[in-house]
Amino acid sequence: MNQPAAISDIPIETCVTPEQEHGERAVFCGLTSIIWLHRKIQDAFFLVVGSRTCAHLIQSAAGVMIFAEPRFATAVLQERDLAGLADCHEEIDRVVAQVLERRPQLRNLFLVSSCPSEVIKLDLENAAGRLNRQYGGRVRFFDYSGSGIETTFTQGEDSCLSRLVEHMPADDSNEPRLLIAGTLPDIVEDQFLRLFGDLGIGAVDFLPARSLDDLPPVGKQTRVLLAQPYLGQTARALIGRGASLVEAPYPLGAEGTLEWLRAAARTFAVDDDRFERVTAAPLARAQRAVALQRKRLEGKRIAFLPDSQLELPLARFLQRECGASLLEIGTPYFDRQSLAAELELLPAGIRIVEGQALNRQLDRVRAAQPDLTVCGLGIANPLEAEGLRTKWSIELMFSPIQGFEQAGDLAELFCRPLVRNERLAV
Ligand code: SF4
Repeated sequence: MNQPAAISDIPIETCVTPEQEHGERAVFCGLTSIIWLHRKIQDAFFLVVGSRTCAHLIQSAAGVMIFAEPRFATAVLQERDLAGLADCHEEIDRVVAQVLERRPQLRNLFLVSSCPSEVIKLDLENAAGRLNRQYGGRVRFFDYSGSGIETTFTQGEDSCLSRLVEHMPADDSNEPRLLIAGTLPDIVEDQFLRLFGDLGIGAVDFLPARSLDDLPPVGKQTRVLLAQPYLGQTARALIGRGASLVEAPYPLGAEGTLEWLRAAARTFAVDDDRFERVTAAPLARAQRAVALQRKRLEGKRIAFLPDSQLELPLARFLQRECGASLLEIGTPYFDRQSLAAELELLPAGIRIVEGQALNRQLDRVRAAQPDLTVCGLGIANPLEAEGLRTKWSIELMFSPIQGFEQAGDLAELFCRPLVRNERLAV
């Protein structure tokens, strides 16, 4: 089996230094990630410890996207000083008891902290420990931060998964296992499992798994392949437990998926003939599906404002597979370790901006008048009102976009605002 490339092996020309900007930000907070995490981890409940604002965010953001009884709630803590902290713990205990009474079958509960000052004063790790003792193992309690003080909304998942790494069982075997880290829709996960099986890579785990009872093992033989680019903290936690990171671009588009699979295949010494045989048909399907959309995107000038941390792989897909021209790639946080393979595929001299100074970025967008601006929800409507076409980056978090079978849909998502514009034009 091949060893994954060490980060120190990255060629010097890929060591891009992004421009830094600091100023006003406009991104959702990490609580937003509860929406896709609770859909994925089917036996977990998410209890936000926060304010009424947090409750509103979760209800309005998630409420329209679920069709079953939700597995999340908010313990609303009112303004109080340090002397009132005991009451806060009582409130958490009260809401936890209420949730468990209503759902006696519940086995796992996340306490999710937020950014109001009265929550910051609380030690939720301690609270989770206390509740674990109180419920004697019948229910497991975890904690993580979904606070808006972090960089952006996808960090909620990073924070959640890095916490789960602490609870993963140790793997002392000598057999290598592949660990796919990052939430993927079930349908995408099943497609990848079939492909890995056809490649002869049988020992494959996913983090998060669909059930917290199936937390995968981790150890020196774990090879981590990131499925999402915003998991720097989780990757470091896994490396801290002995795992090694497989360097790869992300499975977005035909090329990204092919290279992502190839990185796993090389790590597990799959021979080239078998790799070509297994990937040829789905690759051809993906290329045909993207080609159908390419005519609408070819030559279009696209700007990314920082929002989801998916910006670099998406920009790479649009430029290389759809023929788009990139004006600027804004990203809320630039994690060199997680993005190394993506940087090698981006055009030389591309402008990458880390962080956000909203007004300066909007000035640049207005001056450049891109054909499409990929941005946060709150910025999209004002830009649309100014006659610019936009794509909400958060929509990409709720759609299956990874893998060969979804490559055409991914391109089509970027075509939609352009098509709408053409239809509205008279
Ligand atoms: S965590 Fe902070 S940013 Fe997020 S909803 Fe609550 S108060 Fe607002």
